[in-house]
Amino acid sequence: MGLLRKEGDAVSGRKYALVCGAGGFIGSHLVTRLKAEGFHVRGVDLKYPEFSETRADEFVIGDLRDPAFCRRIVDRPFHEVYQLAADMGGAGFIFTGEHDSEVMHNSAMINLNMVDICCQVGVERMFYSSSACIYPEYNQLDPDNPNCAEESAYPAAPDSEYGWEKLFSERMYMAYSRNNDLCVRIARFHNIFGPEGAWNSGREKAPAALCRKVAETPDGGEIEIWGDGKQTRSFLYIDECLDGIRRLMDSDFVGPVNIGSDEMITINGLAGMVMSIAGKSLTIRHVEGPLGVRGRNSDNRLIEERLGWRPTAPLRQGMEKTYHWTEQQVLNSSA
Ligand code: NAD
Repeated sequence: MGLLRKEGDAVSGRKYALVCGAGGFIGSHLVTRLKAEGFHVRGVDLKYPEFSETRADEFVIGDLRDPAFCRRIVDRPFHEVYQLAADMGGAGFIFTGEHDSEVMHNSAMINLNMVDICCQVGVERMFYSSSACIYPEYNQLDPDNPNCAEESAYPAAPDSEYGWEKLFSERMYMAYSRNNDLCVRIARFHNIFGPEGAWNSGREKAPAALCRKVAETPDGGEIEIWGDGKQTRSFLYIDECLDGIRRLMDSDFVGPVNIGSDEMITINGLAGMVMSIAGKSLTIRHVEGPLGVRGRNSDNRLIEERLGWRPTAPLRQGMEKTYHWTEQQVLNSSA
């Protein structure tokens, strides 16, 4: 691991960022964004990004569950640390129950280590990526009218252990911020999607999974959807998510705050959108599968009020880019 240059920083005004989870979907895109903004970036992950070269100035491979490793990578008071590393995936990963202990243990260990070490080293600002999965199941039973306002998080009743770990870690970051000088920013992401995300690893989410199924199926064929497809969700394109993250990080608002889209759609509706993008007419077969809550939508009132931010592009625009990228992966993998 190369040491970051320290001489002349103050003169040049250069900012240093550490991105944990830089080999993952959002982390790898965030590295590219921070580089474009002029940051010197150190990325950390168990693995390199799968689909393109990292743009990070340094990329360190290692396990953030190990406190000694965390101490090595937080070797200076970074201006900004983005903690995105987590053991996570889509419904097929977090709602089956099979990965519950790993999800809770691994992600909690990463957060316990990182927040404490960043605090000790005097990091200026730390971003934590929480999730819409912290919201209580009892407020998301009606697919047409879910309640995901920030203050509705309590009394807590997330629908997965993944959500419970996120809620615990949110509280831990806020406790560190109250008891120390660490400045934290917390976002609750709602289904972020786009090119270069998991699409066939078992960790993919609905947009990528539907794009893959449609791309793999010849016109007139059949695809499977978990459940009756009437469950609702909203999906935020990666570039919009990065705008929200950077806006939150530059603000004086701690959060937790939703970063998501409020363009709610049923899974059947999303499948129809992908078919229309692909120019295919396919039959949907509904099968049993892990589902999560019945309805979910981002409530953007708080972020609009505090940060003046809201997504700008319709879902279809991001889905077009994601479909074309996924279709290319399918073609490459069958070549
Ligand atoms: P991702 O799985 O693509 O990225 C997470 C990265 O963390 C992976 O590259 C993984 O290798 C790395 N990681 C896991 N364990 C590690 C360890 N012990 N040491 C080092 N690295 C480790 O996920 P993503 O979609 O990019 O999500 C990023 C963050 O945002 C996660 O914290 C996730 O929970 C949160 N989030 C994402 C979404 C979404 O829709 N993508 C929604 C809500 C919250």
